[in-house]
Amino acid sequence: MNLADSESLARQLLAAGYREAPDLERADVAVLNTCVVRQASEDKVYSKLHELRRWKTPERTLAVTGCIVRKEGEALRARFPHLEAVVPIGEYAPFLAELEARHDYAMGEPLPVAGRTGISHYVNVVQGCDHNCTFCIVPRVRGREVHVPRPRVLAECRRAVAEGARELVLLGQNVDDYRDPGGAGGLAALVADGERIPGLARLRFMTSHPQDLEMELLEVMARSSVVAHELQLPVQSGDDVVLKRMARGYKVERYQEIVASARALMPDLGLATDVIVGFPGETEEQFLNTRRLMEEVEFDVVHLAQYSPRPGTHAGDRWPDDVPAEEKRRRINDLLALQREIAGRRTARWIGRTVDVLVEASDELGRPYGRNRQGKRVIVKRARVEPGALVQVVVEEASPGQLAGPLAAA
Ligand code: SF4
Repeated sequence: MNLADSESLARQLLAAGYREAPDLERADVAVLNTCVVRQASEDKVYSKLHELRRWKTPERTLAVTGCIVRKEGEALRARFPHLEAVVPIGEYAPFLAELEARHDYAMGEPLPVAGRTGISHYVNVVQGCDHNCTFCIVPRVRGREVHVPRPRVLAECRRAVAEGARELVLLGQNVDDYRDPGGAGGLAALVADGERIPGLARLRFMTSHPQDLEMELLEVMARSSVVAHELQLPVQSGDDVVLKRMARGYKVERYQEIVASARALMPDLGLATDVIVGFPGETEEQFLNTRRLMEEVEFDVVHLAQYSPRPGTHAGDRWPDDVPAEEKRRRINDLLALQREIAGRRTARWIGRTVDVLVEASDELGRPYGRNRQGKRVIVKRARVEPGALVQVVVEEASPGQLAGPLAAA
């Protein structure tokens, strides 16, 4: 989501005649896009702002955007006087006007927008979130859901593909909640339309929610040769009592049913999830239920986080953060080790198989890489392939982080 916002601002700056600086030292303008999902991310923003004090001169402009803006607002400027602008997410026009007034640039010809469209193009389809998970600050900093009309989403998708994008990623904090305001249906219908755009090699979407995921979406995914067989489906806990206190709106059994249906339709589905350990009141037994769920489901990827209380959330304001830090660390380390072992096993199943790889770029050794349909990173060995090519690779090596192998014989 943050990447998509940064891209959108960058495109508008480029269209206004600005150019991308190769590094901070040669830049006249720096805009810090921020995340406050955890205290650690928020602290990083403050330390970066302190650091940028040395960079800032009267000629240079420093601005901040992203989730911290709603949370802290203009108070940021009192704390960091070297900050010129506090820009709300998506409201870039007044900032651009201010910039133009500040910097007396000789604006050249606007650069073609295509310059920013990479192989993957992110498209926001729903902003904000109407859920109220008790640990989460997103509804406070991103507001209630705003759904982008389907014609606008599709127009943006077609434009991006016409300008060279090969992959589209439909984004929403809770993308399964998507509803066309014009009444043309939800995410399944949108994905079914999007995947037919000529020239598109792959269509992904994230992040899903177990309460809102439509079965029809799984069918669209299974039928299509363009839609990725990949779900980002956060479970957060494997214990019903904890799920209820998190206000997630589903039970463990429901989650397992969704996974079973998805895997029945797509046996090779790439499945990623998010898990929080040390939620207020989480007992050893409740933690072990999460552990058991991870063993049973065998996710490909688990984003593990230790609970950190966020002021302004139900849990942060009302419940003591009562799982000691050391215990949280023990729990997370235990799950990290478990997941390493599971991911190793899951990845090994690819060895000897041929996978479709959409090449994104080359790594520092000059080897092309991209992802397979299940979202796994794949290195192409002993070949030169241009970004954007969809190639077949025979997997020779597999580690939890990536697969590698040569091109399949034509
Ligand atoms: Fe936060 Fe996701 Fe829950 Fe929305 S659905 S409140 S973004 S965790």
